[in-house]
Amino acid sequence: MSDGKQLKTISDYSLTDKKVIIRCDLNVPIKKGVIEDDNRIVESLETIKYAINNGAKVIILAHLGRVTKEEDKAANSLLPVSERLSELLGMPVTFVPQTRGTEVETAVNMMNSGDVVLLENTRFEDLDGKKESHNDPELSAYWASLGDLYINDAFGAIHRAHASTAGISEYLPSGIGFLVQKELKVLSGVMNNPERPFLVIMGGAKLEEKLGVIGNLLKIADRIFIGGGMCYTFFKAKGYNIGKSLVEDKYVDVCKTLLEKYGDKIDLPIDVMVRSEEVGNEYIKNVSVKEIKDNEEGLDIGEMTRLVLIYPISKSSTVVWNGPLGMCEIEEFSNGTKDTLSNLLWSGAQVVLGGGNIVAEANKFGYKNLFYHASTGGGATLEFMEGKELPGLTAIADSNSKEFSNKNQVKNLIRNNN
Ligand code: ADP
Ligand code: MG
Repeated sequence: MSDGKQLKTISDYSLTDKKVIIRCDLNVPIKKGVIEDDNRIVESLETIKYAINNGAKVIILAHLGRVTKEEDKAANSLLPVSERLSELLGMPVTFVPQTRGTEVETAVNMMNSGDVVLLENTRFEDLDGKKESHNDPELSAYWASLGDLYINDAFGAIHRAHASTAGISEYLPSGIGFLVQKELKVLSGVMNNPERPFLVIMGGAKLEEKLGVIGNLLKIADRIFIGGGMCYTFFKAKGYNIGKSLVEDKYVDVCKTLLEKYGDKIDLPIDVMVRSEEVGNEYIKNVSVKEIKDNEEGLDIGEMTRLVLIYPISKSSTVVWNGPLGMCEIEEFSNGTKDTLSNLLWSGAQVVLGGGNIVAEANKFGYKNLFYHASTGGGATLEFMEGKELPGLTAIADSNSKEFSNKNQVKNLIRNNN
């Protein structure tokens, strides 16, 4: 598991007057042109400011959402992001509404040291043969040709082998930025050497996505509490009636095996909040997990469970949490997540929020900065905790083992690829 120590970082390079391409994770939720949560932009500032202050010409690459058809472009433009970035930096950011071409090259050639240029959403390149997502070498080489140095600071995209996150570093001296460095340090710290007792809290909807992480964390953690939508597959494995609750039938047997092997480490809710939407019989109530009826859907952990959870939380020195404990978008089913967040604040444990929805929830309540670490990654954090290789980091390591003696060598490489 890479903790990034062996990788070059932005501070290993002299930046003065260099064109530094920084891959940032600026993939923020935007509705009708308004940014709903600018956390990832804020987390990207340290590296960008460092490059500006060290006299670099800063060229930023970033993606936003998914772009599969021409109509996706309007809603996925980085224009609102460039405006917010400019506000946060307190200086102009030149936004180029293209991903390549004369306009891009002119903007880059006109840069002075300390200037910042942001290109349009890298995934616009997906419209023409998925060039970004399929790590097209010609696209990687083209982006590389714009700069002298490549820095990957996009932790949230580091598990992707895309042109802007991996391919590009084949053609340029490369390193990681401060955000990636911080994420790797914290996450590898808890995975390799957690202060014990170490409690894991897992929730959310997609068990399939998280079974690998659960399996790996079960080996490391002292206790794991499983709530959210995924606990019902475990209840089904235990033979309980789960009514209309979320279930992934494919994994009932896997859950059974996990319960057999790690039963003494796994905690499940003892009660849940259920909803009945049966016509003429609509209600929400708190029930024991052994008494869920056919018409009921479990949507949050129950009141007793919320209280019972306080004990392991208070005893823990390290807590890693991924995935909300209930359907927290709906007020009635947000209490498990909300109470557990505030109980963690009191606990004194080193709390790592492992990305995704739970960080958004903590942000919503204004808690985020009160925790030891809130990861900017979703899938990346999960894959790291699962012990998987992260393509963005592998690409930097490969690049670091290469000699990039001069710009001509890069130009030749690029020419050979075209
Ligand atoms: P994350 O993005 O945090 O890793 P997921 O994407 O797996 O987590 O799941 C988040 C979603 O899980 C939320 O939208 C939430 O509504 C949903 N969820 C949580 N508990 C339940 C539940 N009991 N039933 C259905 N959905 C749930
Ligand atoms: Mg999610």
